[in-house]
Amino acid sequence: MSSPRGELPAILAHSRTRVIFGAGTLVELGDLARREGGGHVLLVTDAGIMAAGHVERALDSLQNAGLEVTIFDGVEENPTTLHVDAGVKVARNHSIDFLVGLGGGSAMDCAKGINFILTNGGVMADYWGLNKATKLMLPMIAVPTTAGTGSEAQSFALICDPITHRKMACGDVKAACRAAVLDPDLTRTCPPSVAAAAGVDAIAHAVETAGTLKRNEVSLEMSRQAWSRLDSAFGEAMRNPGNDEARAGMLLGAHLAGAAIEQSMLGAAHACANPLTARLGITHGIAVGVMLPHVVRFNCADGDNPYATLSDNPGTLAQRIETMLAVGGLSRCLADCGVPEAILPELAIEAASQWTAAFNPRPVGAGELLEIYRMAYR
Ligand SMILES: [Zn+2]
Repeated sequence: MSSPRGELPAILAHSRTRVIFGAGTLVELGDLARREGGGHVLLVTDAGIMAAGHVERALDSLQNAGLEVTIFDGVEENPTTLHVDAGVKVARNHSIDFLVGLGGGSAMDCAKGINFILTNGGVMADYWGLNKATKLMLPMIAVPTTAGTGSEAQSFALICDPITHRKMACGDVKAACRAAVLDPDLTRTCPPSVAAAAGVDAIAHAVETAGTLKRNEVSLEMSRQAWSRLDSAFGEAMRNPGNDEARAGMLLGAHLAGAAIEQSMLGAAHACANPLTARLGITHGIAVGVMLPHVVRFNCADGDNPYATLSDNPGTLAQRIETMLAVGGLSRCLADCGVPEAILPELAIEAASQWTAAFNPRPVGAGELLEIYRMAYR
């Protein structure tokens, strides 16, 4: 069956993960999986995606292509090693030779986590860091249903420790997806509050990747293209979720921003956001959104502008992000998120130990991060 393909930016033409983009392209999932060698697929997803009817459509496509499918729908937000273990158990009871992650970042990350343990054994912490898997991993296709993390473009599985809730970033080139299906029809059913938080996360990826110490010519081009799409689509996608063009812009923008992370990593907004999620359960996109304008101002306070590829004026960039937070109905300060002020010094110590802090354009330790938390408090 054919479906209308959207035009892909040239910068993605040679990406490691083949990108299929356009409304209705989910129908191609089965043929893609078969071409990549799938026989028995573990479809990793969550209950909300099941209820939205996306799993049924993915299943149709996979079964029409002659594939066997086992569904694991036990993923929840910020998946932990317990979710991964439950998925591995299901996979081991069937002869799984292929993975499909269908959902938001949580489902895609959990599918990657399952892939590590299923193929290489051990526990998730064994793969915390870079390229620690020694054996080949199963081929995987990711199908995002939110425009947010861009996990489908990355070789990292973010899996939380169930006790500390600390996020383990487990990266391996072998965990990268063979293909990503970007079908904007799938984001139509995303609840507005989820779409806003996910969209701001994508915006934070575009902005932070543009400024990190690791940024390079390729990542800068990805950050620039991601920002330009997200900047022009975000307002319309929030006000009118039925606008197909706006949702397509958000989905492709989020993917480009996710691809930029692969090269450029992230900065202090993500370092500050992670303890807010781990300690206080604040949604990742909300936490990142609150921190981002202040991180931009902090990084440019000495007159530098590491974000020059996005804007000549960092003050304007920070204001633009604040406008987006308002349009998305998201919190603008930590006090509004219910963060106790007394906890900020502890959060700053934890933020300083986040590996993304090391890539921030202006050096940050616990003292600087506390200063940024205080800027973001009211
Ligand atoms: Zn993020």
